[in-house]
Amino acid sequence: MATKIDYYAALEVSRDANGDEIKRAYRKLAMKYHPDRNPGDAQAESKFKEISEAYDVLKDDQKRAAYDRFGHAAFEGGGPGPGGFDFGGGGLGDIFEQMFGDMMGGRRGGRRSGADIQVQVTITFVEAFAGVKKEITIPTRVTCKSCDGTGSADKDQPPETCPSCHGAGKVRAQQGFFSIERPCPTCHGTGRLIRNPCKECHGAGTVEKNRTIEVAIPAGVEDGTRIRITGEGEAGGKGVPAGDLYVHVSVEAHAIFQRDGANIYCRVPVRMGQAALGTEIEVPVVDGSRAKVKIPAGTQTGEHFRLRGKGFSVLRSSARGDMYIQVVVETPRHLSKRQRELLEEFEADAVGHAKGSPESTGFFSKVKDFFEGKL
Ligand SMILES: [Zn+2]
Ligand SMILES: [Zn+2]
Repeated sequence: MATKIDYYAALEVSRDANGDEIKRAYRKLAMKYHPDRNPGDAQAESKFKEISEAYDVLKDDQKRAAYDRFGHAAFEGGGPGPGGFDFGGGGLGDIFEQMFGDMMGGRRGGRRSGADIQVQVTITFVEAFAGVKKEITIPTRVTCKSCDGTGSADKDQPPETCPSCHGAGKVRAQQGFFSIERPCPTCHGTGRLIRNPCKECHGAGTVEKNRTIEVAIPAGVEDGTRIRITGEGEAGGKGVPAGDLYVHVSVEAHAIFQRDGANIYCRVPVRMGQAALGTEIEVPVVDGSRAKVKIPAGTQTGEHFRLRGKGFSVLRSSARGDMYIQVVVETPRHLSKRQRELLEEFEADAVGHAKGSPESTGFFSKVKDFFEGKL
């Protein structure tokens, strides 16, 4: 898990800033990073979440005091993080909630929506180039029809209140200085005991059901991009907004094209004779078309030729990357008798014709310097 930024630093205020200063700082930053103003921008979005979280704490005197004292640990629940505290089932967050729960009106830290859902989608290189619509199946939980959500197979025997926790779902235990709450072991935190659990849902009252939605993946998307779809996460319950759906996009590698940012690279083999004499070659373009590229006489292996604007779209911009043809000069194998004769004649002539071999000229003069101790 990433290290959290200091709440004061997030809002760009000093540690002794007053309530008004904090409010102004938050408004200013919220305007700048609001998701509606930065659609699809994951960085702005995470910044927005960061400042909202910071404001949620610093605007509240009690929360701010706890943060000043305990740091982020004051609000972290759900078990120990790296180097964190382990207070059994909860964390310091639970203790914090016990202290201020009533004043805060329930759940901690303004987290008042359904859970976010993360899904992974793999698309091809060509789909990433052109953009693509993908159907995504999301598992969600809906009320079990068989038992009307009661979890009991027997309609005459509704679930009973758990005798251990009297329906609270949690039990308190004294652990050193603190009083700790744990999920009730008898009812596993549900607060109910079902004598004859429903066969469909095994007493849960809900069953898993798949939901399918279509997600538009924009042209130019890069491997590892995260797309947020607001409100498509888990339902939030009564009067509470649904969570968000996060689609993590993986882009497959391509057999002949490589990508670097918005640019595309393609290695194209050229015969030795073509490279020496110059030629025009036809190359494939990712959009499915073909392009002609002039290879001038004397082209060396590794030289690049640019096809302007034939690369990827740049997200949130009208700019396009370029495509680069990288020439690989190929040495022929399995020569015919005639080819051998011609090449032997060519080779005999090439010796002593140093100007014709630019790489060799530079290399052998350095070799000479090396043996003479100059390099
Ligand atoms: Zn119980
Ligand atoms: Zn059921």
